[in-house]
Amino acid sequence: MGAIIEFKGVALTYGATEVLKAINLTIEPGKFYTLLGPSGSGKTTILRLMAGFLQPSAGNILFEGQQINTVPPEKRKVNTVFQNYALFPNLNVYDNVAFGMTIKGKSPAEKAAKVDEMLHLVKLDGYGQWEISELSGGQQQRVAIARALANEPEVLLLDEPLSALDYKLRKEMQRELRSIQQRLGITFIFVTHDQEEALAMSDWIFVMNDGKIVQNGSPVDIYDEPINHFVADFIGESNIIPGVMKKDYLVSFLGRDFENVDGGMRPNEPVEVVLRPEDLDIVSEEAGKLVVTIDDQSFRGDYYEISAHDDDLNQWQIQATNPVEIGQRAGLYFDPEDIHIMRLHEDEAAFDARIEQYVEDEQDEN
Ligand code: ADP
Ligand code: MG
Repeated sequence: MGAIIEFKGVALTYGATEVLKAINLTIEPGKFYTLLGPSGSGKTTILRLMAGFLQPSAGNILFEGQQINTVPPEKRKVNTVFQNYALFPNLNVYDNVAFGMTIKGKSPAEKAAKVDEMLHLVKLDGYGQWEISELSGGQQQRVAIARALANEPEVLLLDEPLSALDYKLRKEMQRELRSIQQRLGITFIFVTHDQEEALAMSDWIFVMNDGKIVQNGSPVDIYDEPINHFVADFIGESNIIPGVMKKDYLVSFLGRDFENVDGGMRPNEPVEVVLRPEDLDIVSEEAGKLVVTIDDQSFRGDYYEISAHDDDLNQWQIQATNPVEIGQRAGLYFDPEDIHIMRLHEDEAAFDARIEQYVEDEQDEN
C-alpha cells in the first residue's frame, strides 16, 4: 500500500539550534506507529510538523503523495491528542466531543449520532452531560481521544497521552488504544518515552535520539537487534560488554570464547555484546558460562531482579525465578542465540588500531 505520510529530509531549526536533522520516514495507512525516545529528542516536534503547527526549515512533508509543508492544521486529515488533553473546561463532555463538528456546521442529529458512537468507543456511554471537572484523569483522557476521533481523521497523533495516568489505568488504556486503532483501522502515531509501552503497543517503532531517528523496525527487531549502544540501553535494561568477533559464530568477551549465531563480520572485528537480563539463568558455578558474585536482589512479583558483578568488576543485571543469597558465587548460563552482537560503526583507522591492540593483547596473554 502507498504511504500516507512521508518525511523527506525534514529538518527543523530554532535560531541556530537544529532540533531535527534530515528526518526520513514513511508511514503506511492502518498501522500503529510509535516515536520512542528520551525527553528532548524531537518527538513532539515531529508530531507538530505532521499536524501543521510547524513548518520544516528544510525538506518536504508529503500526505498521500502531495507536498503539504505549508498546509494549515485544519486542512489536514490529521488530529492530535495532546499531552495535557487540552479539553475545554467550560464545555461538557458532549460539547467537547462535538466541537470539531460544531465548527464545521454539522446538523444536531449528525452530531448526536457521532458523539454517541465515540463515547461508546471509549467506554463513556451516558457521560455526555458530565462536566470535565467531574471526570477522573483517565476519563478526561478518553474524552480527548473521542474528541479527536469524532473528526474522522485518517491519522491520529497522540503525544504521550498516558503519561499522567497511574500504572493500572495506563496498562488498561494501552490495551484500549490498541483495540480502538485495530477496530477503526486508521493510522495511529503515538509518542512515548516508555520503551515497555512502545514494545507492547506498536506495529512499528521509530527510536529517536538527539533530533535523529537512530533505528526503526518492529518491536521484536528493535528489542532483539538493537543497532547501537544507545538503543540497547534505552530499550530495556541490558548487559553490554565489549567483545571481538573472532570469526563467524564465535565471539570472545571477558577473556573467553562463546559460540553465537551472528556472522558476516570481519575477522577480529571489535563489537559490543548484549545479554538481556531475562535471557540469563542463574546456575551453579560449575555449570555457568561465566561466574559472578551476587550483590543485590529484589522481588518484582513474577521474578527476582538480581544485580551481580564478575571478576573483572563488570556489573550484571539478571532476572531469575529463584531467589539467591547476597554474597553468593553463582554461574550465569545463556544460549548461543541469547548473545546479540552490535557493530561499532567506527572509522577504518580506529578499527585498525583496535584490531592491532587486540592482537597485541592476545600475544601478551599467551
Ligand atoms: P520531545 O518531545 O522528544 O521531548 P521536543 O520535540 O519537544 O522533544 O523538543 C526537541 C528539542 O527542541 C528540545 O531540545 C527542545 O528544547 C527544543 N525546542 C522545542 N521547542 C522549541 C522552541 N520553541 N524554541 C527552541 N527550542 C525548542
Ligand atoms: Mg514531547
